[in-house]
Amino acid sequence: MPARRVAAVIGDPVRHSRSPAVHNAAFASAGIDWVFTAFEVPAGKGAEALEAMRVLGLAGMSVTMPLKAEAAAAADTADAEVEILAAANCIVPLADGRLRAANTDASGFVAGLQADTGLSPEGLRVALMGGGGAARAVAWGLAAAGAADVAVINRTGAKAEAAASIADAASGSGRRGRVGSMEDIAAADLVVNATSIGMGSDASMPCDPTVLRPGQVAVDLVYEPIETAWLAALREQGVEAHNGLSMLVHQAAAAFELWTGTEAPVEAMRRAATGA
Ligand code: NAP
Repeated sequence: MPARRVAAVIGDPVRHSRSPAVHNAAFASAGIDWVFTAFEVPAGKGAEALEAMRVLGLAGMSVTMPLKAEAAAAADTADAEVEILAAANCIVPLADGRLRAANTDASGFVAGLQADTGLSPEGLRVALMGGGGAARAVAWGLAAAGAADVAVINRTGAKAEAAASIADAASGSGRRGRVGSMEDIAAADLVVNATSIGMGSDASMPCDPTVLRPGQVAVDLVYEPIETAWLAALREQGVEAHNGLSMLVHQAAAAFELWTGTEAPVEAMRRAATGA
């Protein structure tokens, strides 16, 4: 086996992914002789990409859209949250040759929240906008970490119900998740945008920012642009508002630790994510 090892992200599109910059900075900072690259893999080819990982002996794999469900299904063994979320964002090769599917989005969101705000999810009332893969991971992460109430607000009601029931499953004690409405936003401690509204050149907002007030905390999972129109409006009103970069950095840090068994150099990863 050559000394230098290769890890990669798969997805489509993946050309503008920040993962190579973040992980290569981490390997350099930790003195690990690995290199991280990106492979564009279309929908439907996720299982073949995992087989290629095995054949090529890749040291780790990140998985992004649209392959998270395929990767979860194709791995040999899956963590509990992967089974419930039906999505894996991280594949770890085990010593016996099997591939383990993990999901670091949920823990990455919670770690990022704590890094940005010092807030613990324990007892929080949360208004969570969105019902896709990111919203489900956030619902799991917050409820597993003790949030008191996760009100899921989404355009498609069935997806809101699914995310709310994931919060129930994660909490393990009583109902923590429910389908919410825009009315829940004013009463929440934490308001999260997990919709894709505001991405790229989209200047629209997931909710009316004037409903929020100082004292509440808002997190927008979007990190491109670095400040969405919603975040800018909230800051203008004195609301503590954060973008999705910390979630990106902390989900990558958790993947790094699963692959290498070494504590992740989070600050080097954050600098790379910001500069990339
Ligand atoms: P997804 O599975 O495609 O879900 C998109 C969500 O946005 C759905 O709930 C969808 O509602 C909602 N939505 C989209 N357009 C809408 C509109 N015009 N009006 C109302 N709702 C709308 O995507 P995802 O993977 O969950 O990602 C969601 C966002 O999180 C993206 O911006 C992504 O970049 C970001 N993200 C960030 C990180 C990070 O590390 N910071 C990680 C993962 C994702 P319907 O269900 O009604 O279609």
